[in-house]
Amino acid sequence: MSRYTTHAELAERFGTPLYVYDAERLDAAREDLFRWLPEGTEVFYAFKANPHTGVVRALREGDGPACRPEISSTGELAAALEAGYEPASVLYTGPGKTPGELREAVAAGVRLFSAESLTDLEHIGEAALAQGVVADCLLRINSATGSATTGIRMTGKPTQFGIDSETVADLAPSFLAVPGTTVVGLHLFSQSNARDEEALTGELLHSIELAARIQDELGVPLRLLDIGGGFAAPYGQHGERAAYPNLRAALEPALDERFPRWREGFPQLAVESGRYLVGDSGTLLTTVSNVKVSRGKTFVVVDAGINTFGGMSGLGRIFPVSVHVEPDGAPTHKASLVGPLCTPGDMLGREIDLPGLRPGDVVAVPNTGAYGPTASLLMFLGRPAPAEALVRGGEVLSVSRITHVRVHEELGAAGGSADGSDGADTDAHG
Ligand SMILES: *Cc1c(COP(=O)(O)O)cnc(C)c1O
Repeated sequence: MSRYTTHAELAERFGTPLYVYDAERLDAAREDLFRWLPEGTEVFYAFKANPHTGVVRALREGDGPACRPEISSTGELAAALEAGYEPASVLYTGPGKTPGELREAVAAGVRLFSAESLTDLEHIGEAALAQGVVADCLLRINSATGSATTGIRMTGKPTQFGIDSETVADLAPSFLAVPGTTVVGLHLFSQSNARDEEALTGELLHSIELAARIQDELGVPLRLLDIGGGFAAPYGQHGERAAYPNLRAALEPALDERFPRWREGFPQLAVESGRYLVGDSGTLLTTVSNVKVSRGKTFVVVDAGINTFGGMSGLGRIFPVSVHVEPDGAPTHKASLVGPLCTPGDMLGREIDLPGLRPGDVVAVPNTGAYGPTASLLMFLGRPAPAEALVRGGEVLSVSRITHVRVHEELGAAGGSADGSDGADTDAHG
């Protein structure tokens, strides 16, 4: 029996902590994003936000255009292939691609890479040549300036990401001469979680301007232009995904001016997104194990801590979360919400508004579809990973759990498997 009516029922059946991902919300987010964008824009989904196989499959299936995978590891590659994506649809990115990973990606049929430097481009070319193919490459550009219209001044800080925009003109001949590669376009990604439509639009317009200039400097026509993203969604708190109703009307004239043939696909326009597509699909269910008072302050201890929902503390994102119980509307009081780990760092929310809770109560943290289990400290203190359930219309489609086991390596064996260069096992981790 896979039907359910309440979250409490799911918590009872599968145990907590439990992530519930609602496929109908994935559909809605994808539909909205495509609607805000210029006609024909492609959307790369950043797997790092949530590589769960069912989630990424939902972003490919159904009505409307499919997302394309943006990945940066062999684990994410395996997740993309398992979810039925064509290798040819994949964009492989990341500042630390190893020769082993690149060989594996090329062998699997990946042909589109984002190059973060001349050396990175050479590594991609070596992997492609070794297998007798040519890799299409985007140059990832680290802009020296930000959008003037919004007042966001990105001062061109030093970063491990991308090629400094001011160096492209000088290096252009070198980029175009790397054996095993063809430079087919540009990749810009300068912001995350931009709630403000004007700010987001300003940055994307700036990316279009910059891309046009770099096209001139390179002297070759762009076939693919990925102008980045920054589409915002709430994280662990109540709230709605941002809306961008004026974005399309703002970008299309700029594209018409700078890339007169973009509507025919010269270049194909693309954006990328993680949290916007998956964030509001997720609800984290966790059970209260204890409620205690210490020197006048209440601590509610739940079975999900930063081992389950803590990646964001490492990624510098904002706590506290806002927890609600089903049904909503219970009176609230100030208390700290803490996880089960033996560290004071396991704090989900300090002195936040919580309903009156008792051991055994199940509480729900909203908007937890992005940067959940795989962005958390899953191994810390040896607790099992949370279960993850994919649901649609009151039906449970699948339930899974990541496992991690210690496997002993043979001592003295030549070559590690860290870069996959000895053909190491690459089972999907989603
Ligand atoms: C992380 C990342 C994304 C996704 O970011 P969101 O803020 O979740 O949309 C997109 N592109 C690149 C290059 C990234 O590193």
